[in-house]
Amino acid sequence: MIKLNVSEIYTPLRIFKESSIVIEKGFVKSIKPYWFNDSETYNFKDLIAAPGFVDTHIHGHAGYDVNRGSDEEITRLAKYLAKRGVTSFLPTTVSLKHEDLCKVASVIGELSTEDIVKNSGSRILGLHLEGPYINPEMKGAQNPEAIRRIELNELDEYIKLSRNRIRVITLAPEIEGGLESIPEIIKRGVIVSLGHSNASYEIASEAFRRGASRVTHIFNAMRRFHHRDPGIVGAAFENSNVFIEFIPDLIHLAQPVVKLVIKVAGRRAVAVTDAISATDLPDGEYELGGLRVEVREGVARLPDGTLAGSTLTMIKALKNLYSLGYSLKKVLALLTLYPARSINELNIGCLNPGCRGDLILLNKSLELEKIFIDGEEIYTK
Ligand SMILES: [Zn+2]
Repeated sequence: MIKLNVSEIYTPLRIFKESSIVIEKGFVKSIKPYWFNDSETYNFKDLIAAPGFVDTHIHGHAGYDVNRGSDEEITRLAKYLAKRGVTSFLPTTVSLKHEDLCKVASVIGELSTEDIVKNSGSRILGLHLEGPYINPEMKGAQNPEAIRRIELNELDEYIKLSRNRIRVITLAPEIEGGLESIPEIIKRGVIVSLGHSNASYEIASEAFRRGASRVTHIFNAMRRFHHRDPGIVGAAFENSNVFIEFIPDLIHLAQPVVKLVIKVAGRRAVAVTDAISATDLPDGEYELGGLRVEVREGVARLPDGTLAGSTLTMIKALKNLYSLGYSLKKVLALLTLYPARSINELNIGCLNPGCRGDLILLNKSLELEKIFIDGEEIYTK
């Protein structure tokens, strides 16, 4: 059991001042509205405790790329992310050839059996397949050669290789077999997110009726919102069961649009990084799913200028969102609780009793000072 005295605890929806948090066997046991005064309690009386970040859409960081399907690389990515405050994540692929997706799926299957805490890494929540069943018209920075029609046999192979750890699939409902496949995919325990899609409002609404429950990086790589042709954006805003991913790097969306998404989506707004391997590395040439990417001043683009993921980190996302004038409570919910809920994780992204002991300690400048996973301290600044 560990006990921490901190200046504030964000659960994140409730705030406790000058309080303490007790973690036992990896889970939050209790929160006390006072400071313990004994020698076993750790004193961080000027630090803020919050749940660790949950990133549900991330391709890489620091030179590590999920798409290469290397167990060593994904393990290193998990360790790296943990030190950046991301205590759980969904490694995310782009459209790749079948063999390459099989490779990533098997690695995720193998890693799911390992003891994460022993490795001091971020919790791998499963795999997010972003493609390959998307609309080539809205490919964004996805390799057109790997985009294909929906093939459930293929998906079944990924599910099997990953030992049932395909968590989310981003697909375009308007492609051949798209709408029909949605209930089939959900039956297999995979969450369907609409994205890289030119779907009309009608098709998107039908996809939601059939069980799709998420939208991938809203506004980006989808039909533009028009007041007489509202598309996925209109359908997602309207539907109160749909979680909405957005990228708060202040590049993919203009600031007023970030604010609009947060206002309209409320507790359904899910901040994601969509970060690529170039994140936390200098400007230069990189690669994403077989395409050349150039990073200049931190912005990743294909040679034709198309945005190619981001170099955003969750801690930078926190600062960006905070700079827009939101309360810390609101910002933390966008980075922890709502992402966890969007993939039906009920005991991460929160610090209520019963939640996992995955937490970050921030100083008053909102910098990471300490990180705990399952109640084990894995990082100190
Ligand atoms: Zn992405």
